Amino acid sequence: MIINLKDFLNNKELHTQYNLTIDKNILDLDSEIRLIEDVDCSVSVYKTDDNLYSEVKLTYKYGDNCARCNEELENQVSTDFNVTINASMEEDDLNVVLIDDKIDLTDLIKQSIYLSKPLKVLCKEDCKGICIKCGSNNNYDECDCNDETIDPRLESLAKLLDKEV
Ligand SMILES: [Zn+2]
Ligand SMILES: [Zn+2]
Repeated sequence: MIINLKDFLNNKELHTQYNLTIDKNILDLDSEIRLIEDVDCSVSVYKTDDNLYSEVKLTYKYGDNCARCNEELENQVSTDFNVTINASMEEDDLNVVLIDDKIDLTDLIKQSIYLSKPLKVLCKEDCKGICIKCGSNNNYDECDCNDETIDPRLESLAKLLDKEV
């Protein structure tokens, strides 16, 4: 995603903002992250006496599976990062290179999405998950596996004890 800063660099304004939508296919994230919608992105650019820097805010929506019950879900994440814009240094986490008055934030945006995506999400906070005994999804049909049943061995022991009383 390339932004042309030429107009901003040539005027006296100290701040400008670009509101952009990035095609989810352009970001081409690997299968670990399934973007559902295009990514909303606002890029603020500031001039200071000896610096040019940018604040980037992103909101993206992706599909995942609940960490407890494995149901499909959608999750939305908002994140942001700051970079210095400069003409001489190489791009890294803190710098983006200005070439012909343009910056390309694509790789930094991808990285930001990778870093901000939660490792685990739940379909709902109180997801009851899947029963490890019978495999039923307890959000839909609660099974009886966890009901207190008396272990048959203990039952016979109880009978034995009864007799002695
Ligand atoms: Zn769940
Ligand atoms: Zn069960």
